Amino acid sequence: MQTLEKPSLLKLQSVKKYFPIKGGFLKRVQGHVKAVEDVSLEVFEGESVGIVGESGCGKSTLGRTILGLEEITEGTVTYRNQEIQDLSGRKRKAFTKEMQMIFQDPYASLNPRQRIGNALEEVFIMHTNLSSSERRQKVYDLLKEVGLKEEHFDRYPHEFSGGQRQRIGIARAIALNPSVIICDEAVSALDVSVQAQVLKLMKNLQEKYGLTYLFISHDLGVVRYFCDRVLVMYLGNTFELASSEQLYKNPLHPYTKALLSSIPRPKVGNKQERIRLQGEIPNPANPPAGCTFHTRCPFATDICKSQKPEWRDMGDNHFVACHHVEQEVVN
Ligand code: SF4
Repeated sequence: MQTLEKPSLLKLQSVKKYFPIKGGFLKRVQGHVKAVEDVSLEVFEGESVGIVGESGCGKSTLGRTILGLEEITEGTVTYRNQEIQDLSGRKRKAFTKEMQMIFQDPYASLNPRQRIGNALEEVFIMHTNLSSSERRQKVYDLLKEVGLKEEHFDRYPHEFSGGQRQRIGIARAIALNPSVIICDEAVSALDVSVQAQVLKLMKNLQEKYGLTYLFISHDLGVVRYFCDRVLVMYLGNTFELASSEQLYKNPLHPYTKALLSSIPRPKVGNKQERIRLQGEIPNPANPPAGCTFHTRCPFATDICKSQKPEWRDMGDNHFVACHHVEQEVVN
């Protein structure tokens, strides 16, 4: 659906991820939480795509589904022309090397009683035939690559700061030379100055190794700085996709406009008007009919309550799902 110049790497087609709700004495399935309802996206080699939306919009579940940590309910995820659902055995293991994840809290995935060097070494024990001395050298190289030192090998997780721990998370993610890294709120827990250093490191690694990032975040300011394109999600659906420049300069969807209006910006010229959304995100187990945003959208009309808006190409690789995008009412 997009026509950018870089080679296509990853393709999502109508991806759905539902979680069953079980209840009653026999624990029968009584409904589903529709975490990801209908997501299509093509990702190109070497780019950074931001996935944004409020908490509960399905962005993290989408990341886990792409990685194969969640079983896909419907649709396909294709990596280098191969559907990942079909992979098993050796091919699955090879795919695991290709796609890695950086989490918000790397501390949670580190064993507090294991030295950092040994934790990183495990990746090479599992996926390579390197000798013990070769593995140690690889870990030293990794530590230096992310701005740490050889002497950090023997330290324990609690001896590192938040920023250093995230560097360790990055080291683990790049250890096997992946092509794609999914970053799930990777810098959200860090102070602003530390955030900037970690983002700079990630950008440098992208340039050096041609990495492709899927950058999941609720922080639109960070996404603007870091990403080439941005996908806006709401209740498991995609609402808008555009280059960062386009999206921040000329957002078309009312939801995107509301999200952007909440970013604090220095006042230059005209006063920035904040669009306040009414109410809460509806329950994903029982999403509204039609446009899922109609219960909160100030521009909703009758058609919005009954018909799901189509994904429309607005030109210049800008896509949006809104019945009234061309009308004055949402501008
Ligand atoms: Fe609002 Fe209707 Fe557009 Fe949905 S389709 S965003 S309810 S105007």
